[in-house]
Amino acid sequence: MSKIRILPEILSNKIAAGEVVARPASVVKELVENSIDAGSTRIIVEIEQGGRRLIRVSDNGEGMGRDDALLSLERYATSKIAKDPDLFAIRTLGFRGEALPSIASVSRFTLVTRATSTDVGTQIEVAGGRINSLCDVGAPCGTLISVGSLFYNTPARRKFLKSIDTEMGHIADTIASMALCRPAVQFRLSHNSRIVRNWAPAADPTDRVADVLGTAIKKELLPVDRVSGDIEIRGWITSPRMNRSTARGIHLFVNGRWVRDRVIQHALFAGYAGRLMKGLYPVAVLFIDVPFDQVDVNVHPTKHEIRFIRQKFVHDVLKDTVADVLRQSDPTRWKVPESASAQLDQGPSSVSEPHSGFTRRPAPEINPHDARQIDRQDRTARSTASAVAADNQPRISSATDAIHAVTSPINPVDRSGDTIRQAPLWKRRFFADLVVIGQYRGTYIICESSDGLMLIDQHAAHERIVFEQLKRQSDERRPTVQRLLLPETIDLGFREAQILEKLVPQLDRFGLEIEPFGGNTFVVKSVPTLVHSGGVAALVTQLIEKTAEIGVNAEMKTIMDGCLMVMACHHAIRAHHQLAGEQIKAMLKQLDACDNPSHCPHGRPVWIQWALKDLEKQFQRIC
Ligand code: ADP
Ligand code: MG
Repeated sequence: MSKIRILPEILSNKIAAGEVVARPASVVKELVENSIDAGSTRIIVEIEQGGRRLIRVSDNGEGMGRDDALLSLERYATSKIAKDPDLFAIRTLGFRGEALPSIASVSRFTLVTRATSTDVGTQIEVAGGRINSLCDVGAPCGTLISVGSLFYNTPARRKFLKSIDTEMGHIADTIASMALCRPAVQFRLSHNSRIVRNWAPAADPTDRVADVLGTAIKKELLPVDRVSGDIEIRGWITSPRMNRSTARGIHLFVNGRWVRDRVIQHALFAGYAGRLMKGLYPVAVLFIDVPFDQVDVNVHPTKHEIRFIRQKFVHDVLKDTVADVLRQSDPTRWKVPESASAQLDQGPSSVSEPHSGFTRRPAPEINPHDARQIDRQDRTARSTASAVAADNQPRISSATDAIHAVTSPINPVDRSGDTIRQAPLWKRRFFADLVVIGQYRGTYIICESSDGLMLIDQHAAHERIVFEQLKRQSDERRPTVQRLLLPETIDLGFREAQILEKLVPQLDRFGLEIEPFGGNTFVVKSVPTLVHSGGVAALVTQLIEKTAEIGVNAEMKTIMDGCLMVMACHHAIRAHHQLAGEQIKAMLKQLDACDNPSHCPHGRPVWIQWALKDLEKQFQRIC
């Protein structure tokens, strides 16, 4: 007799349940997905004891006739796909045909359903995968499934259930995700007979987002709407200031399916790069639509994981989209001056053929990249000049001097040939236009803006300025360097020396010239002019530490960004440092030249603002 046998169906369903039904929230997810696939407009979820005692989901969807109701409890029985090719064009949330038999194998399960086309409903009772009764019942159109005593016959699983509150939290999160992607459907969730969530159908999806994530978030939502090739990205992200300490505010959907995908989550973070501190998470609700045959959803029984065929493309489109939305929504962004907007509104007669990259859209924005591009050519010329003069440059003795020394690199944008040849108008003058009131504790610059009262963190601001300038010089391969009169010798431990050896050629691009001197000794010959030459040994040690922290095997670009942050931080003026009025003004001007002036390279905010209206409310001048 052979030792291999086909397992009884009840046992194989129990095994499948191991993957599909991890906890009460997974049952809720599977049942609600079925209700959505059945075209329901109202889904009611009732929970008792965090789902241990009861999970009941009822809907007003298409329901099932008696035969289908029986079939639905068979493994691999589904109405959603029929043939091989269907697997690569899945439009429904379910398709594997294993949720109902799996759930029924580990609970006391009751199904009551009535198809729209029949007068009578069907009720089936199952316990531990065995059908105990089947009968006709009077029932409204739709389906009601009760799952009692979950895991009563798999004690090991039951033991792993967490507290009622934790399990209920997971259930509420599951419903929230479903509700976000189906705003037209009513969702009601109750626990121990108390309604905990009730989301009415929302005509405007923004209302549903506000309902689910909290109304306070509504005014912070930044709409995302981008089509790139055959990929569509819609939804909302929020300003980096609206951050959270967990990823729970991130809701990602691919072709209407809530997913937990590393690629898109990484792309989202990459889009926020430089605007969010490490350890903080943005809030985002994003719907990514790709052609059905471009994504494999059959990766895991829970269907949370997916695989994109063009993974990098999707990643980069999302990253760029998020970065663009954040850049455009930055209050300090480049704005078209009113006089120029007026000209644009006058129509084609006053504006000769618009320059490429500048179209007469309803809300025209100068693409800061265009402007920088042009600006860069000019800067290249200037940095060539300064590089030539590098060796003769006076030694920069302190960070505050450096604020003066680094002249504002923004130049008038020359859009020659157009009526829009108003170069000075195109300069960003957000920070330079602020009225400086003073300095608080030698740390914050107090300013008056057109909107209210602003505080600028001088260290964060200067860090950003130095970071971007160093980066630009390195991108253009023209770092301005300062030769050390006396080269500095640094002795390192074995591991540190190994790391530094790897960094040496890369650091050279920033103007930090280091040469091995045998053994674990190195000699520093020059430093970037932007980096204060004092404390060279400390700087090199910090660079090595940063690299070790990032991981020596990480991508060199990531390591170099880390090193740039260290250099910027090393050089930037500190807190508790008095600045002269001229120095403050120079710094504000330089901030205007930055691509991302609102955050330091670590993602900390450079400025905070109180709107006049809010201040007046606080003083009860207005209500
Ligand atoms: P899948 O959803 O992968 O097809 P399930 O085991 O979840 O597999 O469900 C099996 C089938 O039962 C579904 O294909 C569907 O035809 C039917 N079904 C399940 N739940 C409902 C429901 N709430 N309303 C109508 N039909 C349902
Ligand atoms: Mg299903």
